[in-house]
Amino acid sequence: MKKYIFVFILLIMMFIPFQSFGASESVNNFIYIVVNDDLISFHDTYPIVRKGITYVPIGALAEYLNIEIRWDQKSYCVFLTKNDQQIVLDLSSKSLFTKEGQIITDSVFLENNHTMAPYKFIANYFGYQVSYIGEGPIARAKDESLSVGDDELFFMLQNKILKEKERILGEIQKKKEAEAQRKELLLREKGKIVYITFDDGPTIYTEKIIHILDQYHAKATFFMLSGRIKTYKNVVRKLMGEGHAVGLHGVSHNAKKIYKSPNTVVSEMNSCNTSLQEATGTKTNLIRVPYGSAPYMTKPYRKAVEIAGYKMWDWNVDSRDSLGKNISPSVVIRNVKNQVKKQKTPIILLHERSTTVKALPEILKYLKENGYTPIPISKTQQPINFWNRKY
Ligand SMILES: [Zn+2]
Repeated sequence: MKKYIFVFILLIMMFIPFQSFGASESVNNFIYIVVNDDLISFHDTYPIVRKGITYVPIGALAEYLNIEIRWDQKSYCVFLTKNDQQIVLDLSSKSLFTKEGQIITDSVFLENNHTMAPYKFIANYFGYQVSYIGEGPIARAKDESLSVGDDELFFMLQNKILKEKERILGEIQKKKEAEAQRKELLLREKGKIVYITFDDGPTIYTEKIIHILDQYHAKATFFMLSGRIKTYKNVVRKLMGEGHAVGLHGVSHNAKKIYKSPNTVVSEMNSCNTSLQEATGTKTNLIRVPYGSAPYMTKPYRKAVEIAGYKMWDWNVDSRDSLGKNISPSVVIRNVKNQVKKQKTPIILLHERSTTVKALPEILKYLKENGYTPIPISKTQQPINFWNRKY
């Protein structure tokens, strides 16, 4: 179980630069491949620069370089041929061999089941010159059929490159979500999962909470208020970066205002989402309405948030940590323990308060000892609500 969480965290870590800047680890090292004047589109697996060498998924590039490509399962080799020239990419020895006897070791590898091979060497071998253009950056293979010089190329392809980048980022995001879903299913099958949720933040306590969660390798979901997201932008970025999920909790937290009509609920969530986007560059579809979905979220209200694309979450374990000023941590801990046992998939309601911070280590310890894995709520997960709390 621990191993899966670790892999899960690693996967999330890999995508952090991508979230904040718009590029994954691989996209940070991403390089655009141009053959003469054409920008080449790659799907699923992308060119990558490692130690100054550009590697490309050769299967996707071969046709643009007019190379014949053949995969031989028996020898575990890829054969690249053009006229009487040939390169063999040997995946078992990770080496490249030319017909003329050149050997480059450590130059061939598999990435998502695609053979990656050194771009420049292969292009050169088959008669192309390769130039690197800092803007993009672009690695361009060219023969005599090009129409613009290197200095004009980026300008000419700028829009295409932007679109390409967006497409790739979208692809990576989708992959990441599918992977998270897969891990979640696995966890569901293998053991007990628990969703720990914190409402009304971010606050001065958020960083402390993240720190405690981290000590127990636990991931949580934070349903946050618009104004506080604006105040604690860095904290929001930090918690997302560490693999916790974010959800919306509206703007006013005032029942008279937010529940005025179905539309006011949607518009509060929308402005909260805008704050989230301004702080982190991403939006979410996860919401929790103030005080939970009962009694205010009657059918027309539920319909409205559903049409707006939101997934509304309640809880089935109420820690009661926000009742009264002097509630002691031990009462909060007892409340959680008593209710967790009764739920198939516990969703624990907590708030960002000093009492909760004090109670949290004991709660996490209890969950761990009882075989629960605390994971973040995913955007695709079917919500659990008061009316289906035994889910
Ligand atoms: Zn609240």
